[in-house]
Amino acid sequence: MLQGLMQNAPLLISGVLRYAALAHDDREIVSRLVDEPIWRYTYKGLHARSAQCAHALKHLGIGEGDRVTSLAWNTHRHLELFYAVPGAGAVLHTANPRFSEEQLVYTVNHAGSRALFFDRSFVPLLTRLRAKMPAVEHYVLLADETSAPPSEFPTQNYEALIAREAATFAWPAFDENAGAFLCYTSGTTGDPKGVLYSNRSVVLHAIAGGLSGALDFSAFDCIMPCQSMYHATAWGLPFIAAINGCKLVLPCDKMDGASLHELIHKEGVTFSGGVPTIWTMYLDHVSRTGESVGTLRRLVIGGSAVPRAMAETFDKKYGVSVRQLWGMTETSPIGVIASPTPEIAAAGPDALNDIIWTRQGRMQFGIELKITDADGNDLPHDGVASGNLKVRGPWTIERYFRSETSAVDADGWFDTSDIATIDSAGFMRITDRSKDVIKSGGEWISSIDIENTAAACPGVKTAAVVGVYHPKWEERPILIVELHVGRTVTEEQLRAHLALKVTKWWMPEAFIIADVPLTSTGKIDKKKLREIYKDHLRHS
Ligand code: ADP
Repeated sequence: MLQGLMQNAPLLISGVLRYAALAHDDREIVSRLVDEPIWRYTYKGLHARSAQCAHALKHLGIGEGDRVTSLAWNTHRHLELFYAVPGAGAVLHTANPRFSEEQLVYTVNHAGSRALFFDRSFVPLLTRLRAKMPAVEHYVLLADETSAPPSEFPTQNYEALIAREAATFAWPAFDENAGAFLCYTSGTTGDPKGVLYSNRSVVLHAIAGGLSGALDFSAFDCIMPCQSMYHATAWGLPFIAAINGCKLVLPCDKMDGASLHELIHKEGVTFSGGVPTIWTMYLDHVSRTGESVGTLRRLVIGGSAVPRAMAETFDKKYGVSVRQLWGMTETSPIGVIASPTPEIAAAGPDALNDIIWTRQGRMQFGIELKITDADGNDLPHDGVASGNLKVRGPWTIERYFRSETSAVDADGWFDTSDIATIDSAGFMRITDRSKDVIKSGGEWISSIDIENTAAACPGVKTAAVVGVYHPKWEERPILIVELHVGRTVTEEQLRAHLALKVTKWWMPEAFIIADVPLTSTGKIDKKKLREIYKDHLRHS
């Protein structure tokens, strides 16, 4: 092989920051905070304060490869940790505060974190858990210097720590494969598992995420990530925004419809995203108040299936186009994104929408997809055959943190545990998560398809379908729906609505109006639902 003769510059997260501070120096970053006024600065300011933070980390004794935990909402201080920690060669473990206390302690200990940076909201939680995390040497409160320190345990103050430091830092050059972020999957079965992103994987993911067939960001966009920064680094949005020079708006933990509406209007947000539950709340808010969506034009929604009715309402009623994203913590998380192609656009808007609103997305450069049968044989990309979805590429996991064994097969394929079809145009459609699949009388039923139809029934806020034991059919689907406040929907109405679209034998065996529990990442908690309703059809 003849070696190429180009520079082997490492892809480092500090490089993204340095570039943004030079190329988009005056572009704004705006942040809500837990109990302080809105914060405003620029990419240049972010660079300066991240440098101060990197010096402070050094003075705390944090060195290359050390782990630091953040227990924080979407704020500018959290963003500074996003750059300072990996920029200095350490690893940021973004703890998920919605994990159970046991899981949270497990992840901090498993990460081996030496310092923990936290928002004030977490003082009561940390007061209870601190003794169980003996390796943490430093607790740093992410708050204004004048704000009173918690009396419950000794802490340092973030602003006081960085105030004394220089606003420039000689970002070290090191191997681009050095770990950068440690994100734990929610571990619906067993302990959470740590996915350790590298500088290289984060930067490649961020470059690809901004492409026109992906999120299509430009310097004219104002981005507000409503995916939590602890959920797969807010899907990489902060980095994608920095590369593309987008204004960035961080909503803290205030993701209710009214708070989002206020930021969208005041800051001119053009693009946002997150899990469907957030956008259900937002739609509910604008439809109740009759308010406009202002400058909002585009959304990326994913993490669980986007109901077609949601995409359609945003588009038709509010002129906001929705791109669905499928991904997982293990894929950084971009897997596929539903973007149009000239071929399907030529078929007219209805045909285009039929595809865009019902597929999880289209193949992206940098992440290969395939489906296989139970024996591991490749299945055709014909939009009909469905099988185990496998992925590989430079931002897909190779092995979990502290695991001795690889998470992929000999050819590098990672089994996602999702069941999907892929069509000849590269559109992928998830029919179920393998553990949520419903097998009734030997045949498969797609819970996602039924949920999607039920979610379009007027009055329905969230629809969930799970399979439960049935004495004759081994398993049958039941439908649990949570209604919008003040609405009534009867079983007959739901049945009539589903009968229009759903195959007869897929019709749920029971219709239950109840609250739908959510997981730590805001998805329908099907494990809990199966547990609650496991005997519902036992005597059928
Ligand atoms: P957790 O398991 O902690 O919730 P992840 O966010 O990594 O964490 O979950 C990934 C899973 O979420 C995927 O394997 C898939 O089952 C589901 N998922 C993500 N996006 C979508 C989508 N657009 N449609 C359907 N399912 C999705």
